[in-house]
Amino acid sequence: MDNQKPIPLKNQDNQPYWDGADRHELIIQKCESCQNYSHPPGPACAKCGSTELSWENFGGDVKGTVYSYVISYRPFLPGFQDSLPLVIAIVELEKAPAVKIIGNVLECNPEDVRIGMSVSMTWRDITNERALPQWIPA
Ligand SMILES: [Zn+2]
Repeated sequence: MDNQKPIPLKNQDNQPYWDGADRHELIIQKCESCQNYSHPPGPACAKCGSTELSWENFGGDVKGTVYSYVISYRPFLPGFQDSLPLVIAIVELEKAPAVKIIGNVLECNPEDVRIGMSVSMTWRDITNERALPQWIPA
C-alpha cells in the first residue's frame, strides 16, 4: 500500500486503543475509580487522576452522531492532498455519549454533513498492520 499519511504512534498509554483499531474494533479506556471513560487514552483518568484504568471493547459495530465538524480544503499534513476537501468531525458515541472521537467522515459530500447526523465507524487499512478509525454516514 502506498500510504503517505502519518501513522499514529503507539505508546504505553494508547496501545490497546490502536491495537483494537488494527483489528477493526473500538477499545476505549475506562476509569475504575470514577467509572468515566477517558478518551483519548492517557496515563491517568482525565476526570479524577486515578491510574486504575481498564479497557472496554465496543466491538466493530459502532454508531455515533456528529457533534461538531470542520471541512478542510487545504492539506495540513503530507499525504492528504488527494483527499480534499476532507470532513474532520467530532463524533459522540451512541453507547457512551461522553466519549467523543475525532475522525474523517468519508463516502459523502462534505456539504451534506450536519451536526446530529448519524454515522457508523469504519476502519481504513493504511498499512498491512495498521488501520485508522473513520466514519461514514449510517
Ligand atoms: Zn476517574
